[in-house]
Amino acid sequence: MSDLVGVGVGRGISVASVLTMPEPLAPPSDEPLAAPVDAEADRVQLALQQVADELRMRAAAAGGEAQEVLEASALMAQDPAILGDVRSRMEAGANAERATWDAYAAFRDMLTSMGGYMAERATDLDDVSQRVVARLRGVPAPGVPESSEPFVLVARDLAPADTAMLDLTKTVALVTQDGGPTSHTAILARSKSLPAVVGVVGLLDAVTDGQVAIVDAKAGTVVLDPDEASVAAARAERDSRARAASAPITEGALADGTKVPLMANVGSAKDAPGAVELGAEGVGLFRTEFLFLDATSAPTVEEQTAAYVAVLEAFPGKKVVVRVLDAGADKPLAFLNDAHEENPALGLRGIRALRASEQILRDQLTALANAQAATDAELYVMAPMIADREETEYFVSLGKELGLERVGAMAEVPSIAVVADQVLEVADFVSIGTNDLTQYTMAADRQLGTVSAMQDPWHPAVLRLVKMLGDAGSSAGKLVGVCGEAAADPALAVVLVGLGVTSLSMSASAIADVRAELLTVTLEEAKQRATRALAATSAAGAREAAAG
Ligand code: PEP
Ligand code: MG
Repeated sequence: MSDLVGVGVGRGISVASVLTMPEPLAPPSDEPLAAPVDAEADRVQLALQQVADELRMRAAAAGGEAQEVLEASALMAQDPAILGDVRSRMEAGANAERATWDAYAAFRDMLTSMGGYMAERATDLDDVSQRVVARLRGVPAPGVPESSEPFVLVARDLAPADTAMLDLTKTVALVTQDGGPTSHTAILARSKSLPAVVGVVGLLDAVTDGQVAIVDAKAGTVVLDPDEASVAAARAERDSRARAASAPITEGALADGTKVPLMANVGSAKDAPGAVELGAEGVGLFRTEFLFLDATSAPTVEEQTAAYVAVLEAFPGKKVVVRVLDAGADKPLAFLNDAHEENPALGLRGIRALRASEQILRDQLTALANAQAATDAELYVMAPMIADREETEYFVSLGKELGLERVGAMAEVPSIAVVADQVLEVADFVSIGTNDLTQYTMAADRQLGTVSAMQDPWHPAVLRLVKMLGDAGSSAGKLVGVCGEAAADPALAVVLVGLGVTSLSMSASAIADVRAELLTVTLEEAKQRATRALAATSAAGAREAAAG
C-alpha cells in the first residue's frame, strides 16, 4: 500500500483499477521510404479504414455531443484527399508514417486558415492522425482508453479533445501528473462531479495498469494497492459522502446558521435551468463573452438585450451578477484586441480594452439596463480586470449614467486588493475572480502547464489579498463574493468565508459539495481555519493547516 499526494478536486472518493492514458506519439522519423509505394499505400489505406471503423463504433456507443465529434473524425479519416496526399508524399520519398503525419498536418493548417467551425474541427485531426500512425507503428493509440469495467483514469494531463471522449459511465476518478486546480482536468472533474487528484508528482512512474487505487479528492491522496479493510472503509466513506452531497437542497449556510449564498457561474441562458435545479440561489457570474466570441463585430443592443433577458428571467427575485465583456489574453476578440501584443495578459484586457472602445461598453451597459427594466431579477453588473479606484469610478459612473442600479468591480488584479478600501468607497460590491487573481499574484500564466504548481489559489499570498478585500468589504458594509474556481473547492470555500467573503459562485455541479462542507463548520471555526492558512508559507502548507 502506498500513498501519492496531489491537489484534490471536489470531495468524492472512488475505488477501481487504474488505466493509464498512453502518451502522445513521438513524431515519425525522416528515414526515406524503404518499401514499394503501392504496398505502403495499401497499409495506410487499411489503417485509415480501421481507424474510421473504430471511431464509428465509439461514436455509436457515446451518443450526444461526443457522437458528433467522433463521427466527424471518422469522416476525416476516410477523406480520399488525405490518402491521395499521403501517396504523393511517399512517391516523393517520405516513409508511410511521415507521409501520413505531414498530410494530416497540412490538412489541419488548411482547416485552421478557414476559421470558424472548420478551424474548431482542426484539432480533432490531430487525434485521427495519431491513431493512424499508431496503427502503422503497431503501438496502442493515444487518447482515452476504453474498458468495460469501471476504472480510474491516470494521465499526464487531459486535453479538451480527450475529455469529450471520456465515457463517464466507466470513468470513476481522474488522476493527473500535471495540471493544477484550475486546469482543464480540474474544471471537467468539477463539472461532472468526478473525484480527481491533479498535480501528483511522480504519478506515471508509480502506477501500472490494473493496480487498484483509492482516489480521495477531499484528502488529495491516491492510495495504490490498498488492503481489503481500506477498500471497505473507502466504499463506506464514498456512500456517506454521496448521501451528504445529495442531501435536500437548502440555502447555503454554516453550522451556526450564518448565511453564505451559493450561486452559479453561467455562460448563457442554456445553463440556467440546470443551475436552478441544483439549488443555485442566483447567478454570481454570468460570463457574457459567448455573445461576442464568434462575431466579427459586437452584437447589437437589441440582440444583447434579448440574451440578458433570457438569463434574468430564469431567476425572478434573485441576484444575477453579470460581467461585461472580458476580451483579451485567454479570450481574444479580433474586433477589440490587438493581436500583436507581446504579453496580452498584461495588455489591453478586460476593462482596459472596453475603455479603448467605449461604444461597445456603452451598448452592453444599455442592453443590461434594458434587461433590468424588463425583468424581476436583481441585476448586478461588474467589470473584469479593475485595478484601482480611478477605473472603478469610470465604470461605476458610466453604468449609473446608463441606468444601472448596482455596479461593481471584479478583483483579479492584485492592486485592487491593496487599495480595496478606496475601491469600495465607489463600487457597490466586489467579486473576486480567483483564477486571474492567482495568475497575476503568482505571475504564473493560467494556461501554462509548466507553471501550474504556482497557480494555486490556496497560496497564502492569494489568501492574504482575499482577506484585504473581505476586511474592506466588512468595513464598508458591502458584499464581497468569490466567483473563481476557488469557490468550488469545498475546503477552500470554508477558508474564503473565514476571510470575510459573503457569497460563493461556482459551476452549478459543485454547489452540493460546497453546501455540505459549509454545514460542518461555524463562522468561528471558519475564521480559525483561515487564520491558520494565512500563516502558512506555501499553498500545500495552507491546505494542511486549514485541515487542522
Ligand atoms: C476569474 O478570473 O477567476 C474569473 C472568474 O474569470 P475568468 O475565469 O472568466 O477569467
Ligand atoms: Mg478572470
